[in-house]
Amino acid sequence: MPVVSPSKIVCVGRNYAEHAKELGNVLPEKPLLFFKPPSAIIGHGEAIVLPPESERVEHEGEIAVVIGKRIRRASADEARAAIGGITCANDVTARDLQKTDGQWTRAKGFDTFCPVGPRVVPADAQTDLTTIEVCCRVNGQERQHGRSSEMAFSIPFLLSYISTIMTLEPEDLVLTGTPAGVGPLMAGDVAEVEVSGVGVLTNPVEAGR
Ligand code: ZN
Repeated sequence: MPVVSPSKIVCVGRNYAEHAKELGNVLPEKPLLFFKPPSAIIGHGEAIVLPPESERVEHEGEIAVVIGKRIRRASADEARAAIGGITCANDVTARDLQKTDGQWTRAKGFDTFCPVGPRVVPADAQTDLTTIEVCCRVNGQERQHGRSSEMAFSIPFLLSYISTIMTLEPEDLVLTGTPAGVGPLMAGDVAEVEVSGVGVLTNPVEAGR
């Protein structure tokens, strides 16, 4: 069962310099935002299903923030105080469709493309948001490793920025971007995303039809 039921999932693209570079992009001057639909959420242990429409589905291990209090046009300090918790997420992406479509709705939005969990760890004002580590493994082999200190835009800044556009509601999820090392997922693989202090989110990968 998923650990959250958000009204929306707001994601940040290209928030780590090395990841922007590996896909041939530069760091954006302002946060690059996109959505994933809540229907894409699956929980710990549930299968990521590879859609037949894509020939290249990739993992993106990310630190996810769960909103605890409603905010609109919040300062960075107010946004920080509105964090409910931290969890692991996998921003599963059909990389071929991301390139051909321009808009990323299809590439990021397939059912099962947003594993989240295995639990939400509460965050408060004492929680150090600059030293969170994220790691992604496929079949036990490390593919990605990053730290929140390497983000182009910090977590409080991101939440403040997003809240100038849309009201963030309790349980809304913000995926804060992926470090370098994205790569393909194949049927039979097991994808893991580990966030320090949270645990490991594990999902098998299946072929869809
Ligand atoms: Zn991502």
